[in-house]
Amino acid sequence: MVENVVIIGSGPAGWAAAIYVARASLKPLVFEGALTAENQTRGTLPLGQLALTTEVENYPGFPAGNLSQFLDTAIINDKRQYMAPHTGHGVTGPELMELMRQQAVNFGTRVITDDVVDIDLSKRPFRMQTLEGMEVQAHSVIIATGARANYLGLPSEDRFKNRGVSACAVCDGALPRFRDRPLVVVGGGDSAMEEATYLTKFASRVYIVHRRDAFRASKVMADRALGNPKITVKWNSHVEEVLGSDEDGVTGVRIRTQPGDHEEALEAGGYFAAIGHTPNTDFLKGQLQLTDKKYLVWTKPFRTHTSVEGVFAAGDVADDYYRQAITAAGSGCMAALDCERWLATQDVH
Ligand SMILES: Cc1cc2nc3c(=O)[nH]c(=O)nc-3n(C[C@H](O)[C@H](O)[C@H](O)COP(=O)(O)OP(=O)(O)OC[C@H]3O[C@@H](n4cnc5c(N)ncnc54)[C@H](O)[C@@H]3O)c2cc1C
Repeated sequence: MVENVVIIGSGPAGWAAAIYVARASLKPLVFEGALTAENQTRGTLPLGQLALTTEVENYPGFPAGNLSQFLDTAIINDKRQYMAPHTGHGVTGPELMELMRQQAVNFGTRVITDDVVDIDLSKRPFRMQTLEGMEVQAHSVIIATGARANYLGLPSEDRFKNRGVSACAVCDGALPRFRDRPLVVVGGGDSAMEEATYLTKFASRVYIVHRRDAFRASKVMADRALGNPKITVKWNSHVEEVLGSDEDGVTGVRIRTQPGDHEEALEAGGYFAAIGHTPNTDFLKGQLQLTDKKYLVWTKPFRTHTSVEGVFAAGDVADDYYRQAITAAGSGCMAALDCERWLATQDVH
């Protein structure tokens, strides 16, 4: 049997694509990722990046309020019983992702909880293999495997994720816990400048901790950050530990500065890692055109086609700029429509 459309990935891009493809009666098959320890460590478990966060305040259609009743009826009990009680602050990331998944399943999407580890795009039908050894052939593929945020790898970062440790200022900066408190941003590239400058809207002070004596960021971005009176740069410094407690979450960071091997504790209510993202494209083994940062390239302007005909890309795996749930879902829709139209030219309906 040859599948019409295989969708690889289970964030907003994958489920949006699945909803559209399923509603076009193309019976998509989604590989949502495997429940492995490695995926847990890398932050690439099924349901994607948004499932790693608490409140989502910027996804349209989910204002603050009590969504419990809606969730009770929209999500099957098998899954609902394990979801945290609703906070009343709007939708949480895991709730939003379960809703998207359920919506795709309601229209006939089939879901396999496994990673695609090998894929052959050299001829059609495309062939792929999963971690558990399942083999599938498909007329078309939508890749929506996302990009994971890089952290320094400190155990203390893990300990305080969602309690003051974040990798997305636009997503989390406006949350109450970050307001009117000093915040720390780690990094020295454009993202670090952008995150730090953005956070000055909410923070009392923003420390940029950077391991060198100059930024890698473009001059215009660096100048904007350096000219901001709320930003203080800790040059030649690295974070040794994120400080905090189970009760309060992040309360500061311990940094070490060279030369002099000087140790300092900075008081802070939040810690933002801004040291880049790693797109999940390794399993493609170079068969599709990638950018120098290993993101998938859309080969037609404003279309989701990749360098191989019949393969489409959606979401953060092809976007190192916006990286939001709404943009990922939007491009998932685009990929589904591009795919459906391409399949029609191949007489697959
Ligand atoms: C802590 C945090 C908070 C955030 N908060 C917000 C917010 O408030 N608002 C907002 O708009 N955005 C937020 N974002 C960003 C948002 O989560 C991402 O932009 C969005 O999830 C990207 O969606 P995606 O579908 O492209 O991929 P992802 O969400 O990254 O999902 C991809 C998933 O595909 C699966 N996968 C990967 N490789 C394979 C493979 N080989 N085989 C099978 N499956 C695979 C994995 O399960 C992976 O997790 C946040 C991100 C983080 C990390």
